[in-house]
Amino acid sequence: MTALETWLRVAVALPLGLAVGSFLTVVVHRVPAGGSVVRPRSRCPSCGEPIRARDNVPVLSWLLLRGRCRSCGARIPVAYPLLELATGGLFVGAALRHPDPWRAALLAPFLAVLLALSVIDARTKRLPNRIVYPSLVVGAGYLLLAWVAGGPVDLVRAGLGLLAYGGGLLIVALISPRGMGMGDVKLAALIGLVLGALGLRYVAVAAGLGILFGGVGAVAALLAGASREQAVPFGPFLAAGAAVAVFVAPELADLYLRLLTP
Ligand SMILES: [Zn+2]
Repeated sequence: MTALETWLRVAVALPLGLAVGSFLTVVVHRVPAGGSVVRPRSRCPSCGEPIRARDNVPVLSWLLLRGRCRSCGARIPVAYPLLELATGGLFVGAALRHPDPWRAALLAPFLAVLLALSVIDARTKRLPNRIVYPSLVVGAGYLLLAWVAGGPVDLVRAGLGLLAYGGGLLIVALISPRGMGMGDVKLAALIGLVLGALGLRYVAVAAGLGILFGGVGAVAALLAGASREQAVPFGPFLAAGAAVAVFVAPELADLYLRLLTP
């Protein structure tokens, strides 16, 4: 990638990612509550004043308003601009790490979906079907389109990835329904579908890391005093494993195989 191409990619991916991140701040609040993500327009939760377009610019508006509502002065949590920045960073990362535009355009929104689901799962211990099902349908449709257009995606491995990761966690959920929920199974199916299209080692790394992170998280929660009956949300750990795989799966897979061979 030339320096010019790198900058062009950042110039496209960063504003797109920030805009998607701004949309995610709406999604993570309204979807768990069952509300529409399109209507009504965003309002200040304190005074109910609709947020004007110029006060709705990602990150920048929050900085200019110094984190306060223009009309009533109520604090706007720093989580909003942070979510926007994180999404912008993930879009830039996907665009730079995956030179092929078909893959970059698949992985950037995929990472945004993982981020939104992680935030919702951490807050509500739920992975809403309203996000997971459309993501599966849109993801599968996109892969079909990319394949027809000659993009570097593998439909057979996408299907295998979905069945392997989703099916694997389904077995875990059936054996231990308290630990793993059906939401986790559907999320694993989505991860398997998208990463399988890039190659099965992406799925293997995502699953290995996801289960490792989840296990460490569950032990940490027990040590921190959570009871065995309290469910630890696994979604954020599965999502984190998938996100790491998006960026370094080939390197991690090579490293792992080298450690195995004497
Ligand atoms: Zn206000």
